Amino acid sequence: MICNTAIPLPMRARLPTRPLLPALGLTLAATLACAPPADDAGADAGPADEPDQGGESSYTQVADGVYQYNAGSHNAFFVDTDGGVVAFDPISTDAAAGLAGAIRSAAPDKPLAAIVYSHSDADHATGAPVLRDAFGDNVPIIAQEKAFPIIVAGGDSDLPPPDLTFADNLTLRFGGRAIELHYLGPSHTDNLLVALVPDAGVLFAVDFVSNDRVGYRDLPGWHFDDLYVALDRLMEIPFETVVFGHGAVGDRGTIERQLAYYADLRDAVQEAVDRGLSEEEAMEQVRLDDYAHWGQYEAWFPMNVGAVYRWLAAS
Ligand SMILES: [Zn+2]
Repeated sequence: MICNTAIPLPMRARLPTRPLLPALGLTLAATLACAPPADDAGADAGPADEPDQGGESSYTQVADGVYQYNAGSHNAFFVDTDGGVVAFDPISTDAAAGLAGAIRSAAPDKPLAAIVYSHSDADHATGAPVLRDAFGDNVPIIAQEKAFPIIVAGGDSDLPPPDLTFADNLTLRFGGRAIELHYLGPSHTDNLLVALVPDAGVLFAVDFVSNDRVGYRDLPGWHFDDLYVALDRLMEIPFETVVFGHGAVGDRGTIERQLAYYADLRDAVQEAVDRGLSEEEAMEQVRLDDYAHWGQYEAWFPMNVGAVYRWLAAS
């Protein structure tokens, strides 16, 4: 359940150090989810996944004024509103230059109203200074609050920390368009958010779900207990279309298949643990034939098994 109670922004959000928001006409309404995030003290982001962001870049419109920008193996996301464009995940300095061009092409003469990081991992969050060079130094950066200390500790000038953070939910309103940012609790990293454009039914979701592909390698930075809670919360969001951080656009059925995969993976590995198999034996013997046609199954599925084995064996 995601139930919201509207509260004044200053009570929840880290305010920008500069008077950015009034200058851009940004109005924000922070909302507080009734379910507190699980305790994840000491958690940190996993290593950056899929460092390859080279190759061609392109963008496609997935709904009215809602765009996927692709750069190699990574996708960014941007939303055009009467109050400017909101861009998610600059990806890298090179990709951000392409993203700036895509925004200029799709929404000529529009300002960039905000940059949002889906989470703190460098392979998605790097490159905001390139967008600021293109659109103005005052463009605010927004992220979930747990991303802030991780990014500050990283000390990367190409990955500046957010100016504005939130705990549970934040609704951005530019012009007449709302963009909802939802924190579902720890999943992949402790600070991953998903974004919903309610008037288009489009969701942007990165790394903890993908399109008919198994999880990334040995699931770095994953919080397993909380992952299953986050997946259930995700289905409570009223989206119809999903833009992923990697791979092709999907729909609710795509996410339902991801939920089924992670449930089947847990059950199959639990059975291996119960049979007394070692981690190595489980990685060799556990198979989920229903997903054998999925992307990266041969390369990454055994690593998924090993990661889940370590979680279950330690629980
Ligand atoms: Zn990541």
